[in-house]
Amino acid sequence: MLVDGAILDADGPRRAYVRFRDGKVVEVGQRGTDSRRGRERTIRGIVIPSPVNGHTHLGDAVSVIEPPAGGVETLVAPPHGYKFRVLAGTPDRPKVAAMRQALERMVREGVAAVVDFREEGVAGVALLRRALSGVPVRGVVLGRPLRRPLDVQELEAVLRVADGIGLSSGRDEEEATRRTVARACRRAGKRFGLHASEAVREPTENYLDPTPDLLVHLARATPDDLAAVARAGVRVAVCPRSNALFGRQPDLAAMERLGVRVLLGTDNAMFHAPSVWAELQFAYASSRLVGRPASAEFLARAALVEPWRWLGTPDAARIGPGTGARPIVLRLPPEDPAYQVTTRTTAQVILRPGSGRRRGRP
Ligand SMILES: [Zn+2]
Repeated sequence: MLVDGAILDADGPRRAYVRFRDGKVVEVGQRGTDSRRGRERTIRGIVIPSPVNGHTHLGDAVSVIEPPAGGVETLVAPPHGYKFRVLAGTPDRPKVAAMRQALERMVREGVAAVVDFREEGVAGVALLRRALSGVPVRGVVLGRPLRRPLDVQELEAVLRVADGIGLSSGRDEEEATRRTVARACRRAGKRFGLHASEAVREPTENYLDPTPDLLVHLARATPDDLAAVARAGVRVAVCPRSNALFGRQPDLAAMERLGVRVLLGTDNAMFHAPSVWAELQFAYASSRLVGRPASAEFLARAALVEPWRWLGTPDAARIGPGTGARPIVLRLPPEDPAYQVTTRTTAQVILRPGSGRRRGRP
C-alpha cells in the first residue's frame, strides 16, 4: 500500500509518500518519486507515529455516572475525595474490567503508550498491570504509596512493581515526602511525577525542587513559572478538558512561546473518555476560546512526538524504514497535516497499515 500525501512526525509536517509492506514502512520519499510508479494501491492521507496519552488515571473509569458538583478537591483529592471513595468501594474485578475497556478504546484510537498515575499502592499497580496484559499498549505505571508519614518499605515495594511514583501535588505532600520519593526514584532508575499548580498557583520550589521527571497541569502557573520549568527542562503533561471542568486552562500559548516541552493527557477517566484526539481538538479550540492560541503543530507534537522523547524512545516518533515507530494512516487531506491531525482525527479516519481493515470498526 502506498500513502500519497504527507508525514507528520518528529521532523515536522511535510509532503511525502510512504510505502508499506505487511504493515511496515519500506520506503519514504518525495511525492511522485516512488519506485512502484503507480503499480500499487494508493490512498491519499497523512502518516503519523502512534500517539501517546501522556496523563491518565484509568482506575477512575469505574465511576460511570456524572460526578457530583464540587471543586477539584471534593472530587479527586486524596484520601477522601469522591474518586477515592468510589475506588475503595469497587471490587478488583470490575476495576480491572473498567481499566481494560478504557485501554481497548485507546487501542481503537491508535494509541500505543499511556502514562498512568495509579493510586491504591502496590495493589493498585498490580490491577493496572492485569488490565494491560495482552493489550498492545505500553503502560507506564506511576504508583503511589499510601501511608503518611511515608513508609520507606511501602515506597520500595511500590517502586519494585511500578515504573515510578506519581504524587498528588506539592500542596498535598510534605517537602520531606517529595524529597524521599524523588531520591528513591533516582536510585531505582525510575520516574518521579507530580501534579502542580492545578487549582491554585504554587511557588515553583514546591514542584521544581527536587526536580521531577514530569509535572502535570500547571493550569495556574504564571509565564515566569513556565519559564522556570522550561529552564529546568522538566516536561509537562497538560489536560485541558479536565481543567475546563473546573473553570481553568493551561496557558498553552505561553508554553509554546517559552519552549516548555508538553505532553497531552486526558486525566481522570471518570470525567471523560481517554481519547487523545478529543483532547487535541479541545486544546486547539479552548486555547482560542481563552484568547491564547497555541499552534496546531505544537499541540500535535504534544501527542505524537514529545511523549516518545520523554519515554526515551525518540525514534518511535519518526516515520521511516526500520525506525521504532508504529505508524498509523489518517484518511485526511494532506495539504496542512498538523492542522488536519489536530482538529479532525477520530477513530473513523484511522487506518492501521497491514491490519486489512479500518480501525475503529468491528
Ligand atoms: Zn492527574
